[in-house]
Formats: sequence, structure tokens, C-alpha cells
Amino acid sequence: MNKLSLEGIETQGKKVLLRVDFNVPVDDKQRVSDDTRIQAALPTITYLLQKEARLIILSHRGRPQGQRKEEFSLRPVAETLEKLLARPVSFSPDLFGPVAQSAIDNLKPGHCLLMENIRFYPEEETNDPQFSKELASLADKFVMDAFGTCHRAHASTAGVAQYFDDAACGYLMKAELDYLDGLIHHPQRPFLTITGGAKVKDKIQLLNHLLDISDELIIGGGMAYSFLKEQGMKVGNSLVDESSVKVVREVLQKARDLGKKIHLPLEHIIADSFSKTAAFKKVEGDIPEGWLGLDIGPKTIAEFKRVIDQAKTIFWNGPMGVFEWEHFNQGTFALAQAVAANSGTTVVGGGDSVSAVKQLGLVDQMSHVSTGGGASLEFIQGNRLPGVEALAEEK
Ligand code: AMP
Repeated sequence: MNKLSLEGIETQGKKVLLRVDFNVPVDDKQRVSDDTRIQAALPTITYLLQKEARLIILSHRGRPQGQRKEEFSLRPVAETLEKLLARPVSFSPDLFGPVAQSAIDNLKPGHCLLMENIRFYPEEETNDPQFSKELASLADKFVMDAFGTCHRAHASTAGVAQYFDDAACGYLMKAELDYLDGLIHHPQRPFLTITGGAKVKDKIQLLNHLLDISDELIIGGGMAYSFLKEQGMKVGNSLVDESSVKVVREVLQKARDLGKKIHLPLEHIIADSFSKTAAFKKVEGDIPEGWLGLDIGPKTIAEFKRVIDQAKTIFWNGPMGVFEWEHFNQGTFALAQAVAANSGTTVVGGGDSVSAVKQLGLVDQMSHVSTGGGASLEFIQGNRLPGVEALAEEK
């Protein structure tokens, strides 16, 4: 990763198009309810404003599917950004046309303008070349800092970048890429990967790859039951992805061949239905018919903690149980505490593990909390990230 950094481009007095990820939740009073992603972009924004750039900020929010839908407007984000920066932020309800053009023309050095949701335009997600060209015509320079969307080739990420010969990488992107690159290429060992969650089918291929790069694997949450079933355990109604049986077998075999340890839950918190208020109990070994595993039990927690304590590098993606529900959050919360207490390199990637870490106020105790779940998983698997590839190389 040797992409052109912000410091490598001349921005003073220039119109700079900055793509960020302001895909933040907004409450029913139209207020941003979690500003983490906005905070994450502040180092780049502040730098560019201090350098007296005329800053035009682009982002998507939600999935308006190419239509103008007010509930996905970025207007509330402009207000939050204004507070965080403690300076005025203008807002343009359109990307093009006379109003937008006059807002851009009137932009003074050291000032910024947030444009309306780029996904109100269907050309964004189809990566329409003409649309990308029009976007490029708005500015003199382009900076990419939307790590969360860099695995998608969209007009405002990969598309627009190709019209600049010095498309640069923002600070957030750089930090994300450096951490993930470090994990893949020179982790301190032992390197432990923890996976969980419910998207078994999506993540199972990732396990194959993670086995190559990490020394040990913890598989918990909904992911675990496809593995436990394959090992002959009765899993009741627990989440099992039947279509992944072949891959599960391959992963188990590969671990044996490579001599790498896969840690699976020994004891479970099971429920009699998939419900917040279900009856629940602890069980070791087989899960009775009609019950399903929704969290890891205390013995599993103790064993997983032991493994975590010995690791020097940890990558964590996916909760250990249905942590949104009080009766099934112990495993995820205990693991978050254990990872936070580890003095090695700890990287948390993926939406749900990140929300657990945030809920517990542990963000500052992790080496890095990724803002892009999908992007970080793609990167770790060695897949191309079009929004990164399109950036210029450091000279
Ligand atoms: P993912 O997006 O793959 O990280 O999945 C996150 C979701 O997995 C969370 O909403 C959890 O509630 C859910 N989850 C975790 N453990 C289980 C489980 N044992 N059974 C069903 N869902 C689970």
C-alpha cells in the first residue's frame, strides 16, 4: 500500500472533491444519532481546511436506490459536521445545476460544502462514466476517505478517481489500510482470528483465507453451529447453513492439514425460541431438539479468554451470540473485554462487533476499530478494492 497521501497534493485555494462515508443513522427528530463516521473523517477535513482548500464533500447515506428520498438526506449531517468543526458548513441540495454551481463558485478557501446524498442519483451505483466525468469537473483535486465503500466500484469512488492523475488517499483510508495490511503481512504471532455472527454463507470463504494467515481461529455465534453439526454434535434448531457443508468440511480439513487450531464453543446458552423473552438455560454438548444456541456459555468464555490472552495479534469480526438481547449478550461482552485487555495489536472489523465494543465504551482500548466491515473483510481476503486501486501511487 503506497498510495499518494494528502500531503503529496497541492490543495491551497483549490477545489477539492472529498469522498467520505457519512452513512450515519438519523433519529426521528432528524438528528444524527451516532456520529462515529463523521468523527472518523475529521482529520482529513480539518487538514484540508487548514490548507485553505475549497472543500466539496460527497457521501452516500442509506439505500435510496437512485431516488431522491428525504429520509436519506445528508442535511442533518451538515448540522452535525458544523458543530464538530465549530465552523460553518454549507449544504447543497443538488450536485449539479445553477444552485450547486453557484454554491461551489462562492466557496472560499478554508470553507466546506456538503453535497446531497450521492445515491439519490442512479448513476452512482452503476458507476456511469459520464456521471463520474461530470463529478470530476466540479473540482481540481480528488481525495478518497470513504473506507466503508472502497470495495465497491461506484461513480464517486473508483469512477471519479480516474479523471485525476493525483487522486489521493485521506487519513482514515490510510490508517485503515495500514492496520489491515499489517495484519496480513507482518502480524506478531500468535495471530488469532475471532469470527461469529450470523452471515455464515457470506463469511465461510473468509475462514478459508483466515486459516492461511492466522495461527488460531475462534468460531462462535451463529457461525459455530454449522461446524459443530459437521463434527457430529446435535445442534437442535440452531442456525446452520446447509449449503455450506462442503466448505465447512474443507475448512476443518485444512485446519488439520496445517496443524492450526479451531476453537469452537463447548457450552451454550440455549433458548426455546428465537426471541428476546424465550426461556433459556445452559447446556454442555448436545442441544436438545426444539432449542437453539444463542450465546456461548461460561466454560466457553473461560476457554476463549485463555486463547485471547495468549495472542499477540487479534482480528475480531462477528458477535458470539445475539448480544442485542440481554439474556444472550454475556459471551460477546466478555470477549470484547478480553480483547480490549490484550496488550498486542487488536483490530475489530465488522458492524456488529464494532457496536458491541462501542456499547461497552472500549473503542479507545482497541488498536484499531474499522469503520468498514465489508471493506475490511474484502481486504483481508486479498480481494481488490476498486476505490483504493483507482488512487495514484506515492511518487
Ligand atoms: P454478522 O452480520 O454476520 O456479524 O451477524 C451479526 C448478527 O448475528 C447479530 O445481529 C447477532 O444477533 C447474530 N447472531 C449471533 N449469534 C447468533 C446465534 N447463535 N444465532 C443466531 N444469530 C446470531
